[in-house]
Parts: sequence; structure tokens; C-alpha cells
Amino acid sequence: MRIVVAGTGYVGLVAGVCFAEKGHDVTCVDTDEEKVKLMQRGISPIYENDLENLMKKNNASGRLHYTTNYKEAYRDAEVIFIGVGTPERLDGSADLSYIAVVSRQIAESIERDCLVVVKSTVPIGTNDKVEQFIKDFLIHDVRVEIASNPEFLAQGTAVRDTLQASRIVIGTESKWAEDKLLEVYKNFNLPIVSVSRRSAEMVKYASNDFLALKISYMNDIANLCELVGADIEDVAKGMSYDQRIGGTFLNAGIGYGGSCFPKDTKALNNLAIQKGYQLKTVEAAIEVNSKQKTKLFRKASERMITFEGLNVTVLGLTFKPGTDDLREAPSLDNIKLLLEAGANVVAFDPVGIENFKKHFPEGEVLHGTIRYVDNIEKALQKANICFIFTEWKEIRDIKPKMFYRLMHTPLVYDGRNLYDLEKMENAGVEYYSIGR
Ligand code: NAD
Repeated sequence: MRIVVAGTGYVGLVAGVCFAEKGHDVTCVDTDEEKVKLMQRGISPIYENDLENLMKKNNASGRLHYTTNYKEAYRDAEVIFIGVGTPERLDGSADLSYIAVVSRQIAESIERDCLVVVKSTVPIGTNDKVEQFIKDFLIHDVRVEIASNPEFLAQGTAVRDTLQASRIVIGTESKWAEDKLLEVYKNFNLPIVSVSRRSAEMVKYASNDFLALKISYMNDIANLCELVGADIEDVAKGMSYDQRIGGTFLNAGIGYGGSCFPKDTKALNNLAIQKGYQLKTVEAAIEVNSKQKTKLFRKASERMITFEGLNVTVLGLTFKPGTDDLREAPSLDNIKLLLEAGANVVAFDPVGIENFKKHFPEGEVLHGTIRYVDNIEKALQKANICFIFTEWKEIRDIKPKMFYRLMHTPLVYDGRNLYDLEKMENAGVEYYSIGR
């Protein structure tokens, strides 16, 4: 099929590449010329495992193209997937301005019957509005329908999550639209759940917010564990064998970040408020998470008189391993607090440094300084205190003795519970983690 994908971020680019991999003829459209030039050369603008290999392979096969010329691309597309961003507005609601722009561009460009599929995460009822909006601005007399096909990939495993997805959810309002989407996914051989458009939109929010809730619940229990002398790691292990609970998303830490959970919890909560309903569970997850993000800094503040002039090592900047994405990463809040308190921060991350520099350029920032290094040893040299914000493998693999050997004071605050308490103690490291 001739498929066009609008927006080449984590969702759009991965979808486009995987559609080409499954035999479709795909054009990826983005407004960002720099990104398009990179992709045309087979370079991925985002860090995601396996993505670049598949791009190179499918670019070479002639099935995968990239352009900024949306008019040309949309003109004779059979199916157009929308994967543009839906960031959060100040009041927590979803900003649909990118969806509106791309919808209008589609309406004014298509010259044949076309199914437009919204992959972006949008509040329930948005697809109805997109359909009306596109019909209002159509120039040619063609059939156009909107379908919902929410995306469940996780950054860091995006390609695998797409090619081996647990399920594909499609939301359509006609057999014509449903058949077209079934044809798109025919070669994926994955379970397909076909529901109404509004239900599909809700499946996405309900899934993400459930996971956010699960994380916040474990963080809440972890905080209580600290107060009553239980160990959250043991508690999670004990819970994980129960199939009704499941073993994933039970890790306590400094809260969820990223481009989805924070904004999707707020957007659903906002939607509920608009409808006059109080979504207490999701509201609680938002509240717990916002406090949890700075828990380590607050803990360390109880131990230290000041951070002024201290050498502070930060290991891990991205919101999770396997991605260079920093959106809503706990490191941003914590490093800001440290710099405001006059610390000299030395930060290490295997892939996130360049993006982080856009927020905090190297040198003097606020009342402190920040410097970036390309390995852990350099980061730990002569440090007075070390904070761990991301569970990258190379950080998880640090031997406790290394903290003792390299740091001026072996004092470690770990937001991801990476090390064994006893081993750290035996190595002479003063070690604080979450919920134990
Ligand atoms: P992103 O910000 O990484 O990418 C969006 C892209 O769209 C950018 O490259 C931007 O230049 C491009 N764009 C903006 N306007 C455009 C236009 N008019 N035409 C063409 N391109 C345009 O976004 P993302 O992280 O891929 O997320 C996209 C959507 O998918 C969001 O709604 C998000 O909530 C949802 N989602 C994201 C993830 C994730 O892990 N990132 C997972 C599931 C769902």
C-alpha cells in the first residue's frame, strides 16, 4: 500500500520504517528540514536500538522515502498516519495545534480517497473533530475517513515493540476504514483489537495511566517501607509472583518521566475535570510522582549542611535507559536544585549529554557550575557526593569499590536501587536508595 506518515519522531519514524520493513511503500513527512536531510542519508535523528539498520536497509530497497514536501506526499496516499506531537499545555490539557496544522495540510492536499489514521495520543473525541475539520477544508471531492490506531511502543525498545507488539488496537467507524487498517497490518501477524474510535482513544490513556499508577503506587509503598523498616525490593519480589499483579513496573525509584506518562496522566485528568468528574486515582499518581522526583535531593539535604562548592557527580541524565530523550527526566529537576544550591556538577550519560546541554550549557549556571564527561571514572574523581538518576547498564555495572576508590567522600544517593545494600556497606560506601 502507499502509506504516508506525518511526523518523524519516536512514533512516526519507527512506524514508517516498520511499515516499509513489512513491504509497504512509505513516505515519511516532517517539517524539520534538518531531520529530513539526515534521514535521507540513512541517519536516525533519534537514538533507538535497531532503527538505523532498518532505515538503511529499507532506504536501499527503495520502499522508504523522506520529504518536507507534504503536498506531493499526501496527494495520492492511500493511508496517512499522523504521528505529530501532542504536548501538554500549561493547564495539563493536550495541545492539539500540531494535529490541527497537519489535518489542514492533509485536507488541502489529498486528491484520492484516503484513510487518515491518528497514531498520536489524543483526548477521547478528538478523532471525531479531526474528521469534521478535514472534511471542512477538503479541496477535492474525495472520500476521507479518520481512524484511531494508538501507539504503545516504549522508547528504548521502540522497534521491537512495533514489530512484536503485544496487540494492535484499531478504532474505526466503518467497515471500509477497518478493512484498510487490517490490510496495513496484514503482514505483522499480531493480535488485532478492533473497537470504536472513542474506545481506541481511551485504551491508550487507560493503559498509560494504569502503568503510571502502578509506578506511583510502588513509590508510595516504598516511602512507607522506609518509615516502617521494610525493604521495597523484597516487597516487590513477593508481589511479583502473583499473576494478577505481574512482575513488571514494580520498581520503586524517583518517579516516571518521559514524553508520555506525565502528559497522558494530566490530559486524562484534565478531560475528566472538563466532564465534571474527579478521577481520583490518576490525580493521586500525578501528585505522588511530582513529589517523588526530588525525593533524593530532599534526602541528601537532610544529611548535608550545604551543597555550595561541593563536587557533585550525576550518573544518568535521560528519563530512562535506551533513549536520548530528556522530556520530564527527574535529572532536570534535581540538577536545577543542585545548581541553585551552588554545587559543581559533573555529569555522565552514555547518550543524553548533547540534549542536556541544550537545557544546561557547560560552565557557570545559576549559582553553580556544570561539566560533562564521557566516562564514569572521570565523573567520580574526587566527588563529595554522587546521585544516580538513570539505570543505564554501565552505571548498574559499577563495582561498589569504585565509588570508594575514586570519590573524596563515598556518599551515594541512588534513585534506581541499583546496588546491593550489604555490598555497598562492605565496600565502605555510605549508600541511600529508595524504600529500603
Ligand atoms: P516527537 O515530538 O518526537 O515527534 C513529532 C514530530 O512531528 C517532530 O519531528 C516534528 O518536527 C513533526 N511535525 C510537527 N508538525 C508537523 C507537520 N505539520 N507535518 C509533519 N511533521 C510535523 O513526538 P513523539 O514522541 O513521536 O510522539 C508523537 C505522538 O505519539 C504523541 O502524541 C505522543 O504522545 C504519542 N506517543 C509517543 C510515544 C513515545 O514513546 N514517544 C509512545 C506512544 C505514543
